[in-house]
Amino acid sequence: PFAKGRHGGRVTPQTLGLGSLKSFSLVSKGSEPSTCFLLLIHCPLVDAHQPKFEAVLSEVDILLNDLTFTISNLSSWMQPESASTNLATKLDDCFIRREPLGVVLIIGSWNYPLQLLLLPMVGAIAAGNCVILKPSEVSATTGSLVAELVPKYLSQECYAVIRGGAEETQELLKNRFDHIFFTGSKGVARSILQAASLHFTPVTLELGGKSPCVVYGPVNMTAAARRLVWAKFFNAGQSCVAPDYILCTSSTRDLLLPALKEALWEFYGEDPRTCPDLCRIVSPQHWTRLRALLEKTRGRIVIGGESDQEDKYMAPTVVVDVSEDDALMAEEILGPILPILSVESVEEAIALINRGQKPLALYVFSEESSVVKTVLEKTSSGGFCSNDGIVHMTLPSLPFGGVGASGWGSYHGRWGFETFSHRRACMLRGWALERFNTLRYPPYSDGKLGW
Ligand code: NAD
Repeated sequence: PFAKGRHGGRVTPQTLGLGSLKSFSLVSKGSEPSTCFLLLIHCPLVDAHQPKFEAVLSEVDILLNDLTFTISNLSSWMQPESASTNLATKLDDCFIRREPLGVVLIIGSWNYPLQLLLLPMVGAIAAGNCVILKPSEVSATTGSLVAELVPKYLSQECYAVIRGGAEETQELLKNRFDHIFFTGSKGVARSILQAASLHFTPVTLELGGKSPCVVYGPVNMTAAARRLVWAKFFNAGQSCVAPDYILCTSSTRDLLLPALKEALWEFYGEDPRTCPDLCRIVSPQHWTRLRALLEKTRGRIVIGGESDQEDKYMAPTVVVDVSEDDALMAEEILGPILPILSVESVEEAIALINRGQKPLALYVFSEESSVVKTVLEKTSSGGFCSNDGIVHMTLPSLPFGGVGASGWGSYHGRWGFETFSHRRACMLRGWALERFNTLRYPPYSDGKLGW
């Protein structure tokens, strides 16, 4: 059933542009890596009708990058970290030792169902933990394949996959874990926290939110529009770090709109519906949610707006004259709808951002470095990127995670290793200088305090 892709026929390492599958064999213990790879890469094509190229980039490449980065650096991250000492501890060996937490539960979301399940697992395994994976039931093909492959290639004593939806996850959460790593929505995060509180289990939350994009001052409109369109409509906008809305002056908007139209035409052609490079909406429920947003908005649809329920299709859509209290601003869009809000100044854009919850990502497009610096300094967000979108999260040397309502904790590269490690404070003391210790033993006297 996985042999034929919706977009472009048979999937092979060659058609994917991947000559060597060596890195993948590191996790699959050398056996049948190419079959595994082909199966894995096909899941997003089935679950979300994701274009092959986008699936390779977002589900596999990013995973392999993190994996190889972790393998190359793990021995140095694992080294005990020596701690400075003072006069009273001069003779002691003081260091921080990274230890596994124990059994960790990783709960994944439906968008990027492989990456968001297996990339945290890289950190968890690197730190020496046993892992239980709970894939999203929405991306069922990925979930079922992960459930089939993990026990085939990884030790069944240490790694397990449990499938199911809300009810099964709640049942799973009755168990005591040493850490819970959750990617998903804010509403579900609350019930995860509630369950975790019963066992005092530490939790990492990778949530979403509305990631703003400020376009201000002199901007190379052609390049800005192409980068924005790519970041927003990649995976049909179903990315937690997709630019959620644009803030710009009305004169910038008037320059940006034709550039956005041009970029959309260049990427997806005259009729995006027939373009194999545009993803579909993951489920009928999400399609209905997005359609309802378009019906409720008081803004003006200037690009796109077409949709087809049967095909779960929604055209890349741009809406202008959107106000802060519009339906499009009430929740994270997570779909191919891009609202543009007009502001008078960069200060007004910053004030609007700061009235909302701290976002997962924040973008600013400007040729003025002072504008970029001002936005960076006067706002807070999980990640920040100027003059592009999404790409900051592809770097394993940068922590990926939110702040406040967009998430707690981070991962990728060393940050994943740290998230799943306990930093044990160690002091190895010998037997010397016992006479010196009498200074702290009773009977006490003010003289012993040195006053
Ligand atoms: P979701 O919260 O509906 O589901 C996430 C997981 O929780 C799934 O595995 C699901 O089975 C489970 N779940 C659902 N209801 C549950 C319940 N009542 N009790 C226990 N478990 C339950 O989220 P989703 O719709 O899969 O994902 C979309 C959300 O995830 C968006 O808000 C998006 O921004 C966010 N997201 C964040 C990141 C990130 O890295 N920060 C990445 C992708 C998605």
